[in-house]
Amino acid sequence: MISGINSAHEALEKAKRIVVKIGSALLVEDNGAIRSKWLDALADDIAALRDQGKEILIVSSGAIAVGRTHLGLGLKSLKLEEKQAAAATGQIKLAHAYQSTLARHDITVSQILLTLEDTEGRRRHLNARNTIETLLKLGAIPIINENDTIATSEIRFGDNDRLGARVATMIGADLLVLLSDIDGLYSDDPRKDPDATYFSVINAITPEIEDMAGEPPVGYSSGGMITKITAGKIATDSGCHMLIANGKELNPLMAVANGQKRASLFLANTAPQAARKSWIAGSLKSDGVVVVDDGAVKALSKGRSLLPAGAVRVAGSFRRGDAILIENQSGEELARGLVGYNVEEVALICGKRSSEIEKTLGYEGREELIHRDDLVLTGLKRKKG
Ligand code: GLU
Repeated sequence: MISGINSAHEALEKAKRIVVKIGSALLVEDNGAIRSKWLDALADDIAALRDQGKEILIVSSGAIAVGRTHLGLGLKSLKLEEKQAAAATGQIKLAHAYQSTLARHDITVSQILLTLEDTEGRRRHLNARNTIETLLKLGAIPIINENDTIATSEIRFGDNDRLGARVATMIGADLLVLLSDIDGLYSDDPRKDPDATYFSVINAITPEIEDMAGEPPVGYSSGGMITKITAGKIATDSGCHMLIANGKELNPLMAVANGQKRASLFLANTAPQAARKSWIAGSLKSDGVVVVDDGAVKALSKGRSLLPAGAVRVAGSFRRGDAILIENQSGEELARGLVGYNVEEVALICGKRSSEIEKTLGYEGREELIHRDDLVLTGLKRKKG
């Protein structure tokens, strides 16, 4: 978690990995056209932030708003299947718009469509995270949206504020920026009450703050302040700061970064790595055990990943992404982690060097049995019985 932040512009200045969420109302005209001048200016901001060495991910709404006109559905309220159809066609236009505007800066984009399951389920969570990490490493900007076309109500986020927050926590971002049609949090709706107090820094999301969120608005955006506050809880609980900024004008990110425009800053309350690790240590049951040799015990105590070479034997029934225990040869628990392979695969590569994985399994797997980011030392605990 980046600390010592007191204002919105400091958050943008110090953050290294930033998720920017863009609402439909900013990006799409009432007639369904993409506001290309606005998008070009946003792309310029993103390019400028990348030039400062930051990694940027975009969570963009707008697929339904663009697609509905394209399919001749007009502005009437849509049935679920019509929304899904609208998203299917709108998403292509949306992705293309990002691709062409960022190409002006030689920036490659990539498209990721997620459902609730992809961020909540551990196995799919690992897959989504690894793909996003790889894209960032390769210098591409992930353009992320909900997979509206296949996500039905039980498995929907429904709003991209929460999707943005889940993505931010999943990839350990240090800042989530919600670009909206309001410049932040007020004690009351400022359109109704001109005396409403504006909050520039929110240290904790208390029940009083939640009460200020009010009712969701009508129109394209499914969000409103309620989903922004929920997103704020998800983000700040996982060590990610959050900004709510008004994105209506051109170059909204730079305006906040330069201190020309205000934005509400919700401060994170824990470090992301610590939050993830306490999740691994505390809330998961274990589906198996891998026993490791003394060399691996030493490596683990120094904070390294567990490699196949250090594994002696394996037991249990688990698949890639499940939580397993790591024990020494006396049966004492050393650590817990999310395993990178299925149990049958671990049995085959136990004791082997990472360079032998491909030959043994017939495909190229990851180097680590359990990556250090997915591993938490739980101390030497006596085995029961
Ligand atoms: N995923 C929806 C879309 O792209 C938007 C959801 C939201 O408004 O937050 O149209």
